[in-house]
Amino acid sequence: MKFIPSALLLLFAASFFSVWLLDRRRRHLVLFSLAFLSVSVGTVVQFALWPSDIGLNTLACAVLYTAGPLFLAEGVLVRSGKRMLVVEHAAWMTLVVGLLGYFYYAEDNLQLRACLLNLGMAGIVLSSAWQLRHLMCGSAIDRALLWMLSGLSLTFVLRTLLTGGSVPINDVSAFFESPFWLWAQFAMSVLGVAMGLGLLVVVCADVVLGLKAERDSDLLTSLLNRRGLETRAVQLFSGAIHQAVSVVACDIDRFKSINDRFGHAAGDSVLATVAETIRRCVRGRDLVARIGGEEFVILLRNCTVDDAYVLTEQLRREIAACDLAGLPEGFRVTCSFGIVESQSGEQLWDAIGRADKMLYAAKHAGRNRTVADRRELPAAA
Ligand code: GH3
Ligand code: MG
Ligand code: MG
Repeated sequence: MKFIPSALLLLFAASFFSVWLLDRRRRHLVLFSLAFLSVSVGTVVQFALWPSDIGLNTLACAVLYTAGPLFLAEGVLVRSGKRMLVVEHAAWMTLVVGLLGYFYYAEDNLQLRACLLNLGMAGIVLSSAWQLRHLMCGSAIDRALLWMLSGLSLTFVLRTLLTGGSVPINDVSAFFESPFWLWAQFAMSVLGVAMGLGLLVVVCADVVLGLKAERDSDLLTSLLNRRGLETRAVQLFSGAIHQAVSVVACDIDRFKSINDRFGHAAGDSVLATVAETIRRCVRGRDLVARIGGEEFVILLRNCTVDDAYVLTEQLRREIAACDLAGLPEGFRVTCSFGIVESQSGEQLWDAIGRADKMLYAAKHAGRNRTVADRRELPAAA
């Protein structure tokens, strides 16, 4: 019976490891697995009293119980593209193991050992939550993870504050009867399971959101694809309140001849450069999609045709000035653009169809130019 928490924690370690086997890019899953494994082995070492020497057992438990939160902290940081410094890991481990060793070998005080170990675990988890505080402005899953970390560290502190006094000073057998130990058992099983399930939900959400993002984006340019554009543009076109959205259709000029002369790979590199230039020139709140071979659509929120015209002309000049990998030096690629402003109640593809007509007019007028609805046809600059 006393090894039930160990078995539960081991089960979570195996679950995270199995999910990692399915998607090895998610390195934090191995760290989550190691976190649960460390604490699970820690409970076995402590409950089985192996090694039976109390000093060695204390040190082994200190290492394993400290490694658990350290792996967890590293895992949540890696998930967000951050890391904990090796010296930071070493400092936490040395501090906790050193203090526990001191309060056994130099001054035998079980009460202090129990408190310090729990405060150390709380400190490690809390420091990772602090480093990830920016997640409070992130997705619901990010915020939930932050709350989970804060809640976990709080339980370490609370059980130390509420029941730490019940731990006998240096009677190990009485320790296993203390309210502190009962709380620790409860935390190990119930909170361990809650933390494991919570982390599994985070992992599932990450996988699903990652797959959705891949489904909605274009592999070559990382812009939105048709489906992504439709999904993201829904609020812009179906909202009760009409907002000015300028729809820009863009097409690379004589792209077929680039493929024919320099090869498909050079054509791909041109597509990537044009996409990157568009992304750089528009504002963060705008949507950019590659909807066909060398055709792009830009949706500019809260932007009139006149403002869109200024932005698009700037973009057109930027693209025409780009140096392109795989093409001879000085070779220039140009684009033509068509712009319309969405009308109240109009559907996305109807507005894109109108922008395409403007684009066609730009092609017809000689390419490398922008034609906007209700504006004079300009000359190429
Ligand atoms: P225009 O100025 O009238 O737009 O002429 P164009 O040559 O750009 O237009 P056209 O539609 O004749 O050619 C588009 C070419 O884009 C044909 C196709 O081989 C090429 N293409 C489509 N998708 C890709 C892709 O993913 N990579 C590359 N390298 N080429 C592509
Ligand atoms: Mg073209
Ligand atoms: Mg085309």
